[in-house]
Amino acid sequence: MIIMKFGGTSIQDVESIQRVAEIIRGRISKRPVVVNSAMGKTTRHLLHTAQAAAQGDSEKADRLLSEVISYHNDLIKSLFPKNNMNPLIRQCDGFFQELVKLKDGVCVLRDLTPRSQDKFLAYGELIATSIIAAVLQQSGLDAVWCDARECMITDDRFTHAQPVREVAFPAIRAMMMSLVSEDRVPVIQGYIGSTREGITTTLGFEGSDFTAALIGAALDAEDIQIWKDVSGVMTADPEIFAEPYTVKQMSFDEAAEITFFGAKVLHPSSIAPAREKNIPVHVLNSKLPECTGTVLSDEAAVCRHPVKSITYKRPVCLLSLRNTHHLPFYDFFKNVFDVLDRERLSPYLANIAERSVKLVLGTSVNLQHLLDDLNPFAKIDIIPHKATVSVIGHALVDHPDIAGRIIHALADIQVELISHGTSNMNTTLVIDADKVETAVSRLHQEFFRQPDPDVFEIQMKKGNVS
Ligand code: ADP
Ligand code: MG
Repeated sequence: MIIMKFGGTSIQDVESIQRVAEIIRGRISKRPVVVNSAMGKTTRHLLHTAQAAAQGDSEKADRLLSEVISYHNDLIKSLFPKNNMNPLIRQCDGFFQELVKLKDGVCVLRDLTPRSQDKFLAYGELIATSIIAAVLQQSGLDAVWCDARECMITDDRFTHAQPVREVAFPAIRAMMMSLVSEDRVPVIQGYIGSTREGITTTLGFEGSDFTAALIGAALDAEDIQIWKDVSGVMTADPEIFAEPYTVKQMSFDEAAEITFFGAKVLHPSSIAPAREKNIPVHVLNSKLPECTGTVLSDEAAVCRHPVKSITYKRPVCLLSLRNTHHLPFYDFFKNVFDVLDRERLSPYLANIAERSVKLVLGTSVNLQHLLDDLNPFAKIDIIPHKATVSVIGHALVDHPDIAGRIIHALADIQVELISHGTSNMNTTLVIDADKVETAVSRLHQEFFRQPDPDVFEIQMKKGNVS
């Protein structure tokens, strides 16, 4: 049995949906369980709708929601030109009506709680899976629409719920095992779940990959395939660098490091359930299905050079805190970390010296809260519009030339902070946000002069279908 997860960009229009149906048909002997995200940018559009409703802007909310509804209706019309798809149309109409009611409710209340937001966003996946299941049925497969809210049982931390595995895993097995053994193809939503009481939850943004790994772990799948619009995990983000290579094999550790330091190709926690069960994860390209993509497993590939990828995070801000009250260092240090604890903040990087602490934080933090908390004992400088750029690989410390090569390659770029990660798998620099493209390109040139052909594969650009 395999898990096949398709992200929003892989199912955004008629052509890509038909391509996905072909990909699934081609792997039918492996007994796939299909996991889908919402189509295209639906999740974002639903969120904007809900936010407009919460602000009382009913006109905007109406317009945005009608766009979401017509987008799906147009897709249904084009995908089923001849057929009378009554069950699908009835199911989707039901979802649309519920969405309209919810939008009206939020408009009246002018309040979007995390709980109602989850309810709102879940429709993206519910609609997408209905359409995909119907497309697969039309192509002759015995596809079965499954409702993740009946098996992906989570806690009630709305918008970032965690699965309750001891309940969810048996429920996933109960739902899927008999279907798969009867050669039927379950089609289930990524990203969404429900509390034990049946209230809809979501696993957080990019949570569909996590769903795929959880279902894979629950079912002891032989393979988890994450289908994207890029040819696997690459040596740099193809969005900003024109000629990256695919990393054919990497360890779970390296992949987790890459995602933590910015490559949004995989959700960091998505890897954990697969890894616990040692199930390989393939990252594949739905636009170029024959490409080998990347396989993640326990082992790092034996490679002639240690660097596997150049990643970045943008924007971040740099917070520089100075101990102006001459507190003993340990008191100063404790105060700073108490504040981080109170604000539930984990910095991406921290640099500590006798009289100062530098922290690299995401830009979604509430700076005013932070300033209020830190002001009594620290002089604070906030430096916005920064980015981190990281060189990621295995056992970097065994290669003493790496730091020198990085500094040499970026000699004319101002570096605010440089850190060699305790994981021994990253060297990270903080630079100006607008220097990221230059830095990534120079570091790529430096570290991938002669890519080891056993580990890297030269790919066409993202979406460049030949
Ligand atoms: P999906 O919607 O299918 O989950 P995502 O958009 O979440 O896909 O992830 C794929 C995107 O990740 C690509 O479009 C690419 O721009 C970005 N990305 C960033 N860094 C990397 C990298 N090192 N390798 C591959 N893709 C990357
Ligand atoms: Mg994603």
